[in-house]
Amino acid sequence: MSLNHVRPWRDIYRRKSRQIMVGNVPVGGDAPIAVQTMTNTLTTDVAATVAQVQAVAEAGADIVRVSVPDEASSKALKEIVRESPVPIVADIHFHYRRGIEAAEAGAACLRINPGNIGDEKRVKEVIKAARDHNCSIRIGVNAGSLEKHLLEKYGEPCPEAMVESGLEHIRILQDNDFHEFKISVKASDVFLSAAAYQGIAEATDAPIHLGITEAGGLVSGTIKSAIGLGNLLWMGIGDTIRVSLSADPVEEVKVGFEILKSLGLRHRGVNIISCPSCARQGFDVIKTVETLEKRLEHIKTPMSLSIIGCVVNGPGEALMTDVGFTGGGAGSGMVYLAGKASHKMSNEQMIDHIVEQVENKAAELDAAAEAAE
Ligand code: SF4
Repeated sequence: MSLNHVRPWRDIYRRKSRQIMVGNVPVGGDAPIAVQTMTNTLTTDVAATVAQVQAVAEAGADIVRVSVPDEASSKALKEIVRESPVPIVADIHFHYRRGIEAAEAGAACLRINPGNIGDEKRVKEVIKAARDHNCSIRIGVNAGSLEKHLLEKYGEPCPEAMVESGLEHIRILQDNDFHEFKISVKASDVFLSAAAYQGIAEATDAPIHLGITEAGGLVSGTIKSAIGLGNLLWMGIGDTIRVSLSADPVEEVKVGFEILKSLGLRHRGVNIISCPSCARQGFDVIKTVETLEKRLEHIKTPMSLSIIGCVVNGPGEALMTDVGFTGGGAGSGMVYLAGKASHKMSNEQMIDHIVEQVENKAAELDAAAEAAE
């Protein structure tokens, strides 16, 4: 449940799941919902991959996935893991040797479907490697690559087939007494994904990795993910999320966080509340917000800032934010601190001034959090 229980209409009751570890990041149970993304560099280009892992970690990614399609990538993985500030998940398809190599290379988790890697002996070898190296496993069911026997049984990819596929993979791990796993049942169709996730959420207590696969470009994919993932998270389903966009992975992380922030499930950085602006605006709201978003990217402390064009909504929004600015006409506006009108500031100096106010507030909140520990 979020901390919003004084306002019951904001409560989200999270599904109870087991907790596993992906490196040092807990996933499931009452752990914060982890944000993931995936690199799109060549894994064998260690420098480029490490740079991207660092960039997405700086943007807030808790866990990063890297493709391991061949032996050279397994070798590169070892160096990437060494340099990475966050746990690395190795993405393996079919090839059991890659799974073993990735576990040996220090991957924190393998994304692999045990039912797709060959005979029992091979499955046991991969599970042993995972166990020996403290590596968890993510079962990744995808509507686009369902097993033939399930497609024959159900006729087409459908929620029931996806859940059955997931349970078959789970059974293999359980039969081998391996329980450090999580599961995803992704589809590019929002309805199919949502139904499959609801089904798997009822059928297992394993932590759930949420995602809408191949969601699309930055705008369309963001909307699709916000609807699909947002809906499931609102129902309390999901322990870690990955937004898939045909865009820079840093954008995936930002969108993932925004979805969680909108639902009050995670808080990070400055939540800017701003009006769309209109003829009443006392300053250029759109340009100001664009500039502030960039200038405040370094702030990780959860806090709120309202930037409102005029007094129609400014004072009301400022009441609920840590720092606020409301346009007032005659080239200046009012600065609000902790919900109260504090002082006037000219439009020309207001960006530098707001950045300073936000930085001061962040330092104050950090100090208070440290003192409370
Ligand atoms: S707050 Fe004022 S400037 Fe902003 S959209 Fe509303 S009326 Fe227009």
